[in-house]
Amino acid sequence: MTADRINVDEVTKRFGTVEVLRGVSLAVAQHETVALLGPSGCGKTTLLRSIAGLERIDGGRIVIDDATVSTDSTHVRPEHRHVGMVFQDWALFPHLTVAENVAYGLAKADRHSDRVNETLALVGLQQLADRSPSMLSGGQQQRVALARALAPRPRAILLDEPFSNLDTSLRVQVRTEVHRLLTELGITTVFVTHDQEEAFVLGSRVAVMQNGRIEQFDTPTAMYERPATRWVAGFVGDANLIPAHADGLRAQSALGELALTTPMHGSVEVLLRPEHVTVVTDSDSPRGAAGTVDLVEYYGHDHQSVVLLDDGMHLHVRRTGPPMVVRGQRVRVAPTGEATVAFLVN
Ligand code: ATP
Repeated sequence: MTADRINVDEVTKRFGTVEVLRGVSLAVAQHETVALLGPSGCGKTTLLRSIAGLERIDGGRIVIDDATVSTDSTHVRPEHRHVGMVFQDWALFPHLTVAENVAYGLAKADRHSDRVNETLALVGLQQLADRSPSMLSGGQQQRVALARALAPRPRAILLDEPFSNLDTSLRVQVRTEVHRLLTELGITTVFVTHDQEEAFVLGSRVAVMQNGRIEQFDTPTAMYERPATRWVAGFVGDANLIPAHADGLRAQSALGELALTTPMHGSVEVLLRPEHVTVVTDSDSPRGAAGTVDLVEYYGHDHQSVVLLDDGMHLHVRRTGPPMVVRGQRVRVAPTGEATVAFLVN
């Protein structure tokens, strides 16, 4: 038995002549929730469907527990992989009740057992067993879909854009409910999303994909604080990339000296997250670089200012509380002093 529940090893997949997965490797440990995050068309749904057995792969190997389920010549059918799948539209049967929908996920012999009630209790829906799905809220329908996937006690569950069917106001609430449920159940989960916040909230680790490859597979904190590439830095969170000249653990830039987490030499771009810079309202201060406030956005819990530096660069600055500056104000922008990562400029 391997320590990992799902092992994806150098998987390739083509649709016609287009290579959609280009050597993807991913090891998902038991009990963890992994998010596949990336822009539209990067291959995340194809990877999820390949794990589920809904797509055949052209190369590499997929192992679930200790069973090889996919290679270029092996393909275990989806129903024999013991993974539960929740589709984007939840795919509930409108003519069946909640209980019947959940029973559908079970083998025929188990459909009249206590397992249906047990699973409905698990997701807090036992009171609604006899309802039709059309009489449920979006969040409740989502839980029915989850219950149906969980009923046969799968080795893992796979969710394709689980919240895309919900409107914005319901999304965050349902996301928290699902987060609590997955945490309590401790079931191995892989889910697809193009929403960074969703990936960070639910994922114990996040695989960021681009163009059929995984660019980085890491915890949300590591991904945000130490992105592996310039592209990941910009895709995950907001990024100010400051041109600088590095000499060891220091880099000289228009904002002054910046501290680096690892030694580098030569032309670099230093990543300063919006919370790594601050606005200095005393325009005579020697700190940082001079500029003019171009835009102020207040979100309630915090605010973001965009400052156009005199050298033409736009910088995003985020701070808690209400804004202290207004559009058109002359200010200076200075680093707050945290050590940060840099990327070599070729
Ligand atoms: P999205 O967020 O838009 O769903 P994704 O990252 O999940 O994107 P995939 O759905 O895996 O991306 O698709 C990856 C690429 O493969 C896309 O260019 C898509 O058009 C193509 N593709 C997906 N399924 C098929 C198919 N059945 N036949 C041909 N091309 C396909």
